[in-house]
Amino acid sequence: MNLTHTSKVALVTGAGRGIGKAIAENLAADGHLLICVSKNPSSCGAVAEAIVAQGGKAVAKAVDVSDASAVAAACEEIIKDYGGVDILVNNAGITRDGLVMRMGDDDWNTVLQTNLSSAFYWVKGLLRPMTKKRWGRIVNISSVVGIQGNAGQANYSAAKAGLIGMTKSMAREFSTRSITVNAVAPGFITTDMTAVLPEEVQTKIKGAIPLARFGTPEDIAATVNFLCSENAGYITGQCFSVDGGMAM
Ligand code: NAD
Repeated sequence: MNLTHTSKVALVTGAGRGIGKAIAENLAADGHLLICVSKNPSSCGAVAEAIVAQGGKAVAKAVDVSDASAVAAACEEIIKDYGGVDILVNNAGITRDGLVMRMGDDDWNTVLQTNLSSAFYWVKGLLRPMTKKRWGRIVNISSVVGIQGNAGQANYSAAKAGLIGMTKSMAREFSTRSITVNAVAPGFITTDMTAVLPEEVQTKIKGAIPLARFGTPEDIAATVNFLCSENAGYITGQCFSVDGGMAM
């Protein structure tokens, strides 16, 4: 299928590696100007440089997405430099796993702040110009564990489930401006985040995946790309599972 795209400004958080990097590269391949955000300036810088080296358009911005005032300042700069963004992908995320009995407040708050509040900060900072243009695409990266839960991930699954609820509310609020808001819920994807899982845990997880393998960052990027395209203009408030059939 040929997706129709006109060149837009797109911002992807957590674009320094893994799923965010694949999403940024995929959108850049369609001619969009990419603003690659991550906490680490060298990783988002390297991704932006690689996109430019391949003939694309990209800039890097090092921002800690869990810091409300840092996100607000970055949004002001982006509005000044580019007039805002047309596409916003809230992808940055972390895990701090542990059973509830042993989970400290810091592990709870940091995960909620980084995975959920951050998406609210970016939308709030970039919404005004998007509403004026009367066109926008917002995609929030949730997780299969936001749908099913997972022992040892109360903080992470709460944040990821929260993103789905936030997506649906925002979709209703922004609909009159032709801004769509959707979520993508990846299953287990081969990235640094899942590389830390011991071999026997990975084998056990694969046994619970109908397609019997981990997904790739490109599997997620392809779905995000579609949701950001003109072709997806009649889809909003949805959560798409890209998980090899885990959450049926
Ligand atoms: P990753 O750890 O490989 O990459 C995460 C990226 O987010 C990095 O670039 C990191 O610098 C950035 N980041 C983290 N904290 C940040 C902060 N405070 N400010 C700015 N940037 C920050 O992770 P990944 O596997 O590519 O996951 C990407 C997203 O997909 C996350 O939201 C994750 O929860 C979600 N997800 C991943 C999987 C999986 O199996 N890998 C499954 C479901 C959902």
